[in-house]
Order: sequence, then structure tokens, then C-alpha cells
Amino acid sequence: MEHFVKDIDTPDSLLLEMFDNLPSLAWMAKPDGYVYWFNKRWYEYTGTTAEDMEGWGWQSVHDPKTLPQVLKRWKEAIEAGRPTEMTFPLKGTDGIFRPFLTRVAPLKNSRGEVHHWLGTSTDVTELVKTEQALRESQEQAQAIFDHAPVGITYVDNSGEWLMVNNRICEILGYSKQELLGGLTFKDITHPDDLSTDLQMMDKVRKGVIDGYTREKRYVRKDKKTVWGKLTGSVVRDQNNQLKYFIAIVEDITEVKKAQEEQHKLQRIAQERNELLKINKAKDEFIGIASHQLRTPATAVKQYIGLLLNGFGGELTEEQRRYLLIADESNKRQLKLVNDLLKTAQIDDSSYKLQRRVVSLTELLKETIQAEEFVLKMREQVLTAKGLDKDITAKVDPIEIKLAISNLLENASKYSGPGKAITVSLVASSKSVSISIEDEGVGIAKVKQKEIFDKFTRIDNEFSDTVTGTGLGLYWVKQIVELHGGTIKVKSVLKKGSKFTIKLPL
Ligand code: ADP
Repeated sequence: MEHFVKDIDTPDSLLLEMFDNLPSLAWMAKPDGYVYWFNKRWYEYTGTTAEDMEGWGWQSVHDPKTLPQVLKRWKEAIEAGRPTEMTFPLKGTDGIFRPFLTRVAPLKNSRGEVHHWLGTSTDVTELVKTEQALRESQEQAQAIFDHAPVGITYVDNSGEWLMVNNRICEILGYSKQELLGGLTFKDITHPDDLSTDLQMMDKVRKGVIDGYTREKRYVRKDKKTVWGKLTGSVVRDQNNQLKYFIAIVEDITEVKKAQEEQHKLQRIAQERNELLKINKAKDEFIGIASHQLRTPATAVKQYIGLLLNGFGGELTEEQRRYLLIADESNKRQLKLVNDLLKTAQIDDSSYKLQRRVVSLTELLKETIQAEEFVLKMREQVLTAKGLDKDITAKVDPIEIKLAISNLLENASKYSGPGKAITVSLVASSKSVSISIEDEGVGIAKVKQKEIFDKFTRIDNEFSDTVTGTGLGLYWVKQIVELHGGTIKVKSVLKKGSKFTIKLPL
């Protein structure tokens, strides 16, 4: 102001007219701060008169809250004779306070003495609003950055972090200070994933690509590996030079785990299918092979029987001995073939029981009778209990008979000569139990579960001399379970065993 108002005590009319037409509010004061003139815009905006404003009357359009501060600054400026600037609210004719940027300048003469003060106040409502909006949007952006559910980092050209948010700190287990204190993305990238990252960064730097998305592994501060989905994009300056790189990292460790789990399950399902196929082929083979073997073996049995019974003429002792050996081998062969055939039949998913109501008492009696000859040969005594009452059940009689015969044969096979065998039939309102108890070699506790598995034979003193395939108990259990029943064993080594079949009624 000093350069165009020189050595005047009162501003000339030209100057006042210019101020009068300013779009801002303007006023003139004497060196002591006494305001004696306001421009047109001032009166228009405040709706006041020259009389209202004269001297210190201008205070009436100020906000009482900010007025003390305004007065203080104004007085300091007067005392120092120096310009000042501040923003404060002024009341308009509509009673609304609006912010005004006010600049006060001293007009001095050539001796440096203040002879007037000139003030201008410009409505900065829009500017304040814009600043406020900008601040809010910056705060919002900061809040989104800080609390985003994904990790966000700004990385410079050398790979150092410029900014990191809270989530990336959680994902990597480092504090913000640690990450910003010189660590680079190389320090937290899994060694096996680093070269791809470097290649990608190079492409980005050269401008071949502007960004990329990839799944990679990170190494946390605690050395644990986490999987992240990285989406990287680049921000360039006007000269197309890389300014910084924005990396967004989503923790996908759980997703990866679930995927791996799913792959594992798929692999298992595939392996299972393969096994089922192999199993089916094996069962088919056993079925066919058994049929082909059983027919000739049965024929051999019949012809040995004929010869032993003298239908081929008188036999010498030696011939009889040879035939008995042949008969024993033939029995073993037939046992194996029958067990294989039974197993294949039971394992076939389309196999169906032929159930009908039968007398279990009669069925048991017949089964015992069929075994009597063998028991007698071994000088074993069989006691039957509970066969005085007639108990009926809906079962497949052929299969149940086979199962009981097998248990009886085992009881006999695995007991020495002269041992006792007890068969009992006990019925309740809901079920019936058939048990076969012997005084034989018994089965060690740890082996008792295995005996029902396919091809499982437990070594004992009779294993080498008796016929066995390790299949009998397997198919017996299957038959019982097809009936909705259970089979249990109680056994003590060298004391004996008790097998109990329980069938629902
Ligand atoms: P195996 O044809 O060998 O008799 P099983 O499936 O019938 O096959 O029986 C499996 C194994 O269980 C036998 O090898 C035998 O060791 C044992 N076992 C079965 N029944 C008895 C029993 N009553 N006493 C002792 N051991 C038995």
C-alpha cells in the first residue's frame, strides 16, 4: 500500500471510490485504530449504517466468541505499525456469520509514520468449505487405508516402503516402525517366490506392464509362511517415471489350506476309486477262478470217496494211506475254494440274503449233527444248551448254518483231542444269541480284533496242522452283520475262546 499512497493525510476521493467498488469489504482507520470509513460492500453485507459503525461500532457484526482475539491482534498491529492477517466470522444482514479473510495494512508517509490503516475482508466461505471437504476426504482416505481389511503398501523404486497400513502389519507380524525402518519387500518374500517378484517389478519399471496379480508366499517376522494374493499397480509421474508402486495384499492362507485339503480329498477319492476298481476286478477273478476250481476238486473228492469205500476193489494198506493223504489235500483245496467263493459272494454289493422264518433250534441241531463225525474223530465232547425251547427267527438259513458250522469247526480245530465244546442258544424278547465255547488254545487279547479281517491267521500250535485260509471269520462276520447282528469273541490264551453271534428278533 505504501507505494501508491504517499504523504497524504486523507485518502483522495479517487482512492475511496476504488475501494468503494471492491468486491471485498474494505475500511479505513486512523493511526489509532479509529475506523471512520467503510466501503459500499461492507454496508451491503452487514446491513448497517455509517453511524452504527463509526469508531469501534464495527464490533457489533463480530462473533462475540472470536472478537477478543480479533481485538488483541488488531491492537498489536496498531502498536507495532505492522500489517496483519486473520480469518474471523462477520454477521451478514441475514444474521448468518460467514468467515472472512481480513488483511490490515498500515499506510505510511515518507517518514515511516502510519497515517491510515486500510483493511479488506474477503468472504472465504467457499474456500473454508472446500478446505473442510478436502480435509474430510483426506481423513476418510486415511481411515480406509488404516482400517482396510487388506494389506496396503506404497513401495518406492528401490523396493522400500513409503507407507504401510495396519492390516499388512498384522499379516506380516511386523510393526509399522519395523516395516518403514528399512525393510524391503525382499525381506518378507518367500525365497522361492522372490525371482518371479523381481521379474514382475522389472517389467513394471520398464513400463511393459502397469500392474499384476499373483499368489505368493510371505515370511512373517515369526518365520511362519503366509499366503497372500498380491495386486500390484504402478503410479507414474508426468514424465512416465515410476513414482511408487501400490501393493494390495489379501491374506489367503486359509483359502490355500482349504484348497490343499480339497486336493487331498480329491486324491484320496481317486485312490479309493482305483482301489475299488482293483478290488472289483479281484473279486471277479476270485469268483471265476473258484468256480473253475471247485468243480474238478469236488469230482476228485467223490472219486476218492468211491475208492476208499471199496468201489474200485480191495485196497492195500499203502493204497488206503495214499488215498487218505490225497483226501486231506483235496479237503484243504475245497476249503480254500469255498472260502474264496463265499468271500467273493459276500463282498458283491448286489448280494442279497434269502430270509425266511425258521426254527433256530432245529437249524442249530442240524448243524451240530453235521459236525458230529469230525468231533468224534477228535474225541471231543459237545454239549448243547437251550435247545429244548423252539426259537424262531427270520434269517437266511443256509448262511446262518454256514456261519455256525465255521465257528464249530474252528472250536474243534483249535482245541486238542478230548476237549469240551459248548453250544448255547439264548433268546430274549429282542434278540437271540448263539455261542460256541471251547477249551482250546485261545487268542491273545491284542490279536482278537484282527481275526475278523480277510486272510488273517494267528499263529498257534495248530496253525501248521489244521486246514485254514484266514477267511472264515471274515465272511462269518459279514453274514451276521447283513442280518443286522453282531459277533463278539471272548478268549483267554491256553484257556479257550467263546464266540457269540447276536441276531435281532
Ligand atoms: P482259519 O481258516 O485260519 O481258521 P478264520 O478266519 O476262521 O481262519 O480264523 C482266523 C484265525 O483266528 C485263525 O487262524 C485262528 O488263529 C484264530 N481262531 C479262530 N477261531 C479260533 C478258536 N476257536 N480258538 C483259537 N483260535 C481261533
